[in-house]
Amino acid sequence: MKILITGGAGFIGSHLIDRLLSENHEVICIDNFDDFYDISEKKNNISNHFSFKNYTFHEGDITDKIFIKDIISSDTPEIIIHLAARAGVRPSIINPEKYYEVNVSGTLTLLETLRNIRIKKFIYASSSSVYGLNPKTPFSEEDATMNPASPYAASKIAGEALCHSFNNIYGINTLILRFFTVYGSRQRPDLAIRKFIRSILNKEVITMFGNGGTSRDYTHISDIVSGIIKTLDYDRAGCNIFNLGNSNPIKLIELIHAIEKHTGEKAILRYMDEQKGDVPITYADISKAKRELGYDPAVSLDEGIKEMIVWLKNLKLSSS
Ligand code: NAD
Repeated sequence: MKILITGGAGFIGSHLIDRLLSENHEVICIDNFDDFYDISEKKNNISNHFSFKNYTFHEGDITDKIFIKDIISSDTPEIIIHLAARAGVRPSIINPEKYYEVNVSGTLTLLETLRNIRIKKFIYASSSSVYGLNPKTPFSEEDATMNPASPYAASKIAGEALCHSFNNIYGINTLILRFFTVYGSRQRPDLAIRKFIRSILNKEVITMFGNGGTSRDYTHISDIVSGIIKTLDYDRAGCNIFNLGNSNPIKLIELIHAIEKHTGEKAILRYMDEQKGDVPITYADISKAKRELGYDPAVSLDEGIKEMIVWLKNLKLSSS
């Protein structure tokens, strides 16, 4: 299939493209090497992709209407997987405008371009954060999502709402995939597992917000990529939502103990008050994804952490 990926130089996008290229799909990648974290990491993520004949890269911004229209009309993808975003909860509190510009206006630019161009489907990367302060666990696709804890979560809800409305008006088939805390090699540097492994290996203090009782449904990148790949053949029309998580929430303190076990080092912890924007738990009900997509996450936290430790040891620790 001919597939356009936005944000294809990032953590999830580059892994997804590895898999799509190995399965001989034709891949068109858009990324603007946004400065949210070191662009040399992103360039490194995609360095192997250029050797594939079935890979095209376009550097540019998803909010640039002319750029997007040119690429979609000339490259004619059958499927668009829209991963480009400003990610991260805490920075969205500091700079909410940027999150709206990229996550909401960027998504709108892509969907608007599809008004007059036929594609099979538009796959939107959403997040567990849309469930916000949902008191009911596990989180099901049918739960209400109108209580976001951060501007990032609100921007992801707005992107989902645009997918619904463009499906209602223009019949564009949209798929909304809600990812739950993705980890693995190439993980973004702002995310907890990477920060904790690096600090423990460097014998640096870890700042832990709250008492360690918050839980996250950590999901390995290879499971997320398999879940996305399964949606390529999903042919139910409409706007369909799937949780892609692990359905096994882990407390923050348990995560730290697991990293201690696999590094053989003791964490030095400093406790701070809980941060605004954080939610107490994320926990995916994945029964719908299992039933309708055949999604079946397989990587345990122990396996995933061991692999990440090896990866991080190979990076220069001070800059990782
Ligand atoms: P990432 O920051 O590593 O990747 C995002 C990519 O998008 C980057 O390469 C960036 O340069 C690019 N980008 C940003 N703004 C752009 C713009 N205006 N135009 C073109 N490209 C732009 O993040 P990630 O962790 O790989 O996340 C990918 C998607 O998955 C995001 O939509 C994010 O909200 C979602 N998500 C991620 C997680 C997670 O745990 N990593 C969890 C839930 C949802």
